[in-house]
Amino acid sequence: MNRALFLDRDGVINIDKGHVHKVEDFEFCNGIFDLCRYFAEENFVIVVITNQAGIAKNFYKTSDFYKLDKWMVEQFEEYGVDILRTYFCPHHPDFTGKCKCRKPNPGMLLNASKDLNIDLSRSIFIGNKESDIEAGIRAGIPSNILFTSQDVETKATMVLSHLNELKMELLKL
Ligand SMILES: [Zn+2]
Repeated sequence: MNRALFLDRDGVINIDKGHVHKVEDFEFCNGIFDLCRYFAEENFVIVVITNQAGIAKNFYKTSDFYKLDKWMVEQFEEYGVDILRTYFCPHHPDFTGKCKCRKPNPGMLLNASKDLNIDLSRSIFIGNKESDIEAGIRAGIPSNILFTSQDVETKATMVLSHLNELKMELLKL
């Protein structure tokens, strides 16, 4: 079975400017390429797990999301990093009703596990919100890492203020 490094997108891969859907607004977070390369070399597959309520709110279309995702994956490829797949939730409870995929629900993680033969009990999730941590916990992921420079109360395994600080020996896997 595969081990995965699951990454939230907005706020982890790119700076969260709110409903980012254009290449020109997509600014990679410092250290994200090196972090991904490090875990790829440790034989983790890399999977993106992202809420995209902007689609439900009609700020942008699914086709805009796909276009930006394709461009993002190409930037990682140029750096020698393979993003295996991106899962996104296009819903929002106020606009499209409840769903099983929107984090903190674990739906996207459970689907990824099934589709990509991922052992969640040996995987990692990095998010910038408590809803990411909650989704990881509900999915049975042991290492849920909160990437933030703020001092917050969290159920996360650890809080990370710089992406380059994350190393295997800090994780319980
Ligand atoms: Zn959803």
